[in-house]
Amino acid sequence: VPKVVRAGRELGAVLDQARAGGAMVGFVPTMGALHAGHRALIARARAETDLVLVSVFVNPLQFGAGEDLDAYPRDLDADLAVCRAERVDVVFAPPGAEMWPEPPVVRLSAGAFGEVLEGAHRPGHLDGVATVVAKLLHQAGRCRAYFGRKDAQQLALVRRMVRDLAFDATIVPCDTVREPDGLALSSRNAYLDETERAAAPALHRALAAGRDAWLADPTLAPGRIEAIAGQVLAAEPAFVVDYVSLVDPDTFQPATRAAEGQVLAAAARLGPTRLIDNVVLR
Ligand code: AMP
Repeated sequence: VPKVVRAGRELGAVLDQARAGGAMVGFVPTMGALHAGHRALIARARAETDLVLVSVFVNPLQFGAGEDLDAYPRDLDADLAVCRAERVDVVFAPPGAEMWPEPPVVRLSAGAFGEVLEGAHRPGHLDGVATVVAKLLHQAGRCRAYFGRKDAQQLALVRRMVRDLAFDATIVPCDTVREPDGLALSSRNAYLDETERAAAPALHRALAAGRDAWLADPTLAPGRIEAIAGQVLAAEPAFVVDYVSLVDPDTFQPATRAAEGQVLAAAARLGPTRLIDNVVLR
């Protein structure tokens, strides 16, 4: 049964004690509503580290005005059951007032990451991610921290932040877990009604079509690859596309020439639900 910790100070004491005994901490930060994608991260941490820590915190700083902060699914008991099944040692579930008794005055900037793709479409989102991940990594201390490739821009941002600001964390990227029809698992999939759920796999289908076109002709221009993916997405009229973009995996700046390792990323909305996904050119 995982130990549930509410206060940052207590978390530090528990983890310091484990580290003093030689344990390596494996940390999986989440916003809860745990699904098989989160479970894959937790299982990897379980296999690679001695003490597995999962945080469950819906971070208000990364939600914009009019976004789904209030609607975001919250069910700590269900999350604890998942953590128990995955043999998690410690669950850090700070109440909002424990994490930020008042809004933080000093925050991090996502820099150039905040100006493209997710950053451009969700102003302030990646600043909020950087700020909460920084705080959580400070609270966790020395660790291996597990992040999903599904949120590829977030992953690139966190890796760069750890390098730029010398966090004592090793960032471990984990592959995207998908439904059998290709839809990437997401807590937000719970918002989809039956019709929207049926349309949703077109997002991954579109990205896969772009990648396959590049595999068939590696000289294709980035704009052509994006257009091919865009056409597949447009065939599903329920989708409103925010972007389809081929970018450098480290900087998330637009690719000038298509090359192996680049990320073809997309965001699109189905009714009120916004979905993101990406594939790597390889
Ligand atoms: P979230 O709770 O949505 O903030 O996600 C917590 C962590 O789980 C992040 O590192 C995500 O990238 C990762 N994650 C979410 N969905 C998936 C998925 N389908 N496959 C792999 N990792 C995921």
